[in-house]
Amino acid sequence: MRAIRNISLTVFFAALLLFLSSLFLSSYRLSDQVIAERFSVMYTASGKSYYEILRPQLEPMVNVEYHSSFGFISDYSAIIKKYNEPLIAAGNWDEVIKDDQLVMITKHSSSGWLADHAVYVSTFCFLGMLLGGILYFLVTGPANEYRRRAVWFSSLSNRGVAGIVLGSGLILFYIILYFFPAYLSPWMLLADPLRHWFTDKGEADQWFLYGWMYCMAMLVMGIRMLIKWKGNRYQTFRTVSVMFFQLCFAFIIPEILSALNQPAVDVKHIWPLHYNYFDGARIDQMYAFGGIGITLFWWGIALFLIGVPLFTYFYGKRWYCSWICGCGGLAETAGDPFRHLSDKSQKAWKIERWMIYSVLVFVSVMTLLVVVAWYSGKDEVMGISSGFIKMIYGFLIGSIFSGVVGTGFYPLMGNRVWCRFGCPLAAYMGIIQRFKSRFRITTNGGQCISCGNCSASCEMGIDVRWYAQRGQNIVRASCVGCGICSSVCPRGVLKLENAPEAGRINNDPILIGREGVKMNTDLIK
Ligand code: SF4
Ligand code: SF4
Repeated sequence: MRAIRNISLTVFFAALLLFLSSLFLSSYRLSDQVIAERFSVMYTASGKSYYEILRPQLEPMVNVEYHSSFGFISDYSAIIKKYNEPLIAAGNWDEVIKDDQLVMITKHSSSGWLADHAVYVSTFCFLGMLLGGILYFLVTGPANEYRRRAVWFSSLSNRGVAGIVLGSGLILFYIILYFFPAYLSPWMLLADPLRHWFTDKGEADQWFLYGWMYCMAMLVMGIRMLIKWKGNRYQTFRTVSVMFFQLCFAFIIPEILSALNQPAVDVKHIWPLHYNYFDGARIDQMYAFGGIGITLFWWGIALFLIGVPLFTYFYGKRWYCSWICGCGGLAETAGDPFRHLSDKSQKAWKIERWMIYSVLVFVSVMTLLVVVAWYSGKDEVMGISSGFIKMIYGFLIGSIFSGVVGTGFYPLMGNRVWCRFGCPLAAYMGIIQRFKSRFRITTNGGQCISCGNCSASCEMGIDVRWYAQRGQNIVRASCVGCGICSSVCPRGVLKLENAPEAGRINNDPILIGREGVKMNTDLIK
């Protein structure tokens, strides 16, 4: 067993090392063919051919060998900038060249060892990381860290050096993915053979690559969760569920739809989490696809208006946050070792409520502006540019908050930073869960020994023990119903239930809280 464990770890780290170093193993050579491929069908707003403009400008780069992406990207960007500068200064926007081909130009200019052996390197890296990781967890066996409290002594899971290094690496990755994706072109090259499984015509861009990396992380760490919670039916169910929805609904089905020339949508992606849902260009595009496009567009609206309230009424927000959602799925699998890092203070709870409902208001206003702008055909609504507000939302919330902070901060602030402080869909479901739902966690206070396992493992920063000690039901808006508090309780105090609403909020006649002792006079009468 020890030998297999060591072999699987070696394979995993060898594959990871090769994958990371592949970013520096490519060389780049811009050819006339690549310029023609990318630009021959592109035209400025005034109708001039990109190819005719850019071919002479790019001449100094043609057939020059670059040994790193830094030099290549820097020279290419400088040429485009130099050409655009006088046009921008003169306000001649119709002639300005859009700089949106950098990722594919860099990728298609890749040459050398990595480009020649992409299929073999890709097979070794992806299979090595997947199988090495899975095998390691299979032979290591169950690891119930919460009872052993090992998480508090590990540098990785208790904000030690390893945790800070991992967090910094993740933050760096997200910044590059969102704002400088061209530097990831060698990884896109490695993802190409996988994309070709779905369609011969397509190729991997940064979003396909990210989708696949996301699936791999969830599969490996999902297996770890299944082993860790072997015999626990609820944890097994929801882990299999998030793995299934990520792999099939978020990754495979959109690829199949795309290969069939249909809209490549994730049918479980709902507004306001999918903040571009009502974007004018998107609506036009969905309608342009005809039958399937229109059906999928209205499916999303029905899900938001009927499905979300109905399911949240019956099951609380766990039906989405802990069983279906990709963000929740990553948090529950890859983010599991960091769940105890969530801040349980009253101050954090206050900040959480302000932030999450502010994001909900922000996305609602932004969407309203976008829809009115699309309907009226004018970008400005009451003097406000809908495009500008959308850009600010996309940058601050869509990229920085949900990606860079939401996942990059796992080892620093716990695994549900985004779900707790930022997700507008969680805010919407939270309101329903708090006021009109059958879901609650019941607590058998007499059995509680105040060990604190439940509070320590609550990823949403809920001080579960506080409720358990009082025998008070938990009906908090933020609870994602992961059930870990219940699973780690040595006394069987906590139970996740969907039952009739009557008696769901069981205020006690005397409440002993942090602020002191309160008498609930209505109940005493
Ligand atoms: S509810 Fe269970 S896990 Fe939480 S403090 Fe009480 S005995 Fe411990
Ligand atoms: S209270 Fe329990 S079920 Fe709810 S989020 Fe916290 S650990 Fe999960």
